[in-house]
Amino acid sequence: MQRDKTSNSPKIQEDPHQAESAPPRQLFWADQKADEIIKRKRFRYLKKDIKKFDRYTIKTSASISGVLHIGRLSDTIRSESVVKALKDRGYDSDLIWVAEDMDPLRKIPEGVPQEYKKYLGTPVTDVPDPWGCHTSYAEHHVSKYLEVLNEFVSTDLTLFSMKEEYKKGNFKPYIKKILENLEDIKEIINKHRQNPLGRGWSPWTPICKGCGKIITPKVEGFENGKITYRCEDYKFEHQTAKGCGYEGENNPLKDYGKMMWKSEWAAQWARWEIVSEGAGKEYIVPSSAWWVNAEIAEKVLKFPMPVPIFYEHLMINGEKMSASVGNVVYPHQWLEIAPPVLLRFFYNKKLMKTRSFSFKDLPNLYDEYDRHARVYFGKEKIPNPKEENHMKRLYEISQSNTTEKPLKVSFSHAAMVSQIFTDENAKIQSLKRSGHYDRMLHNETLKRLEYAKRWAARYAPEESRISLDIDIKKIKQNLSKEQKAFLTRFSRWLEKPRTPEEIHNQIYSISKELGIPFKEAFKAIYLAVLGTKKGPKAATLIASLKQSWVIRRFNEVC
Ligand SMILES: [Zn+2]
Ligand SMILES: [Zn+2]
Repeated sequence: MQRDKTSNSPKIQEDPHQAESAPPRQLFWADQKADEIIKRKRFRYLKKDIKKFDRYTIKTSASISGVLHIGRLSDTIRSESVVKALKDRGYDSDLIWVAEDMDPLRKIPEGVPQEYKKYLGTPVTDVPDPWGCHTSYAEHHVSKYLEVLNEFVSTDLTLFSMKEEYKKGNFKPYIKKILENLEDIKEIINKHRQNPLGRGWSPWTPICKGCGKIITPKVEGFENGKITYRCEDYKFEHQTAKGCGYEGENNPLKDYGKMMWKSEWAAQWARWEIVSEGAGKEYIVPSSAWWVNAEIAEKVLKFPMPVPIFYEHLMINGEKMSASVGNVVYPHQWLEIAPPVLLRFFYNKKLMKTRSFSFKDLPNLYDEYDRHARVYFGKEKIPNPKEENHMKRLYEISQSNTTEKPLKVSFSHAAMVSQIFTDENAKIQSLKRSGHYDRMLHNETLKRLEYAKRWAARYAPEESRISLDIDIKKIKQNLSKEQKAFLTRFSRWLEKPRTPEEIHNQIYSISKELGIPFKEAFKAIYLAVLGTKKGPKAATLIASLKQSWVIRRFNEVC
């Protein structure tokens, strides 16, 4: 076993913020997967020992025909965490990314000309690039996909294309083995089928020599290593791939085509010696393609089944993400309002728990992340040491090359400041006034202000939208005599410089002295400053503004 002493965990230089010690590595899911990968000894379906691996390769892949939304990044991000956990244990580990570019074009996506209907059923790798900038439709999408993926992943990915793999003959040995053991393959698949596969069934899908489509050739027989087929129409859910009527033969060891998914997945594992791969929770059921391939991999290809990383899918506002519902979140939208590390953090939380995302609740995710940062750097203690260690490790593994230090300004506070002030300097001055500025983290603070500004403009719910631009006359009428008395007293007290804490205490003591309920006092502040009855923390709001401005405003409305 090769040992790689270099750890993948971000190096933390001497720093006053430094974490007290590295968190233990047993509690976090990716660490548990890593241990399972290292420690497992036996095949699942055979009485056979697993040979030692020189390196631990994890696979992640993507079908190239669909839309890339943030849900599709989950598989790669989670796989990367297991790679990191293995590296942290001193093992060689790498992440490979496979483009499933032999998949057929199933529908005409938005922005693609309708004349592309003629390519329905053709492998996406053989469909021309509608935008004309790449050699194929698949290549266009792969290059766009990788641009994004590299923003979210910090490990170098080794890239493969199934089309290239078939072309180079890299899968030939596996195809051969599968064809030689056809009866065993059928038996494995038939265990989960009501109608057993018939005599002429083939684990190989030919590509029509007449029209180049993969979905239209209907296999009519498979004998003496040759498949006979006829090219017929194939109905997708909404559209039909036209067959060309060609009748011919295909030799899986010589001609163009691909393996069926229940065989191909197993062959991929054996070909790249995969020790682990992610899959959606629907694959947990015993009849799924995962277990069928697992059995094929072991019994036919003599390769041990990888350790599965099963996970729940992402929901948006509690609903499944889909183009027809119109709730698809694209990676570029994410990057406008949050850094990649926040999505990694989001996906690295428990695997088998439904993850729901909503733009409106983004500040909560930031708060959770910030809290983990404070715990990691020992600025906040958690009573339960197990929980504390788990939080530290989750934070650590979500980082890329540098470990982010906790910011003093929360995301909602940044959103508030970004709405009040337009000028960058004014924003920083405001954060200084309220004690939420850290000189060492100037650039990080600016970034957060920028994300928050975009979020507030596009996605903030009504209660988080604020403006100092109010109708003074109307507010003057709405404030009671007691509230005005409160504001007058308060503004006089603000003539000297005050800290947020002092402001907070003073709101209570003036209300008490004047005998007005605290609630009314707070309402008076919000009405006078924002023209609303509610708002962010009052002391923070006041401290964010220039005291002279507050005094002037209070006098105007009284
Ligand atoms: Zn292109
Ligand atoms: Zn055809």
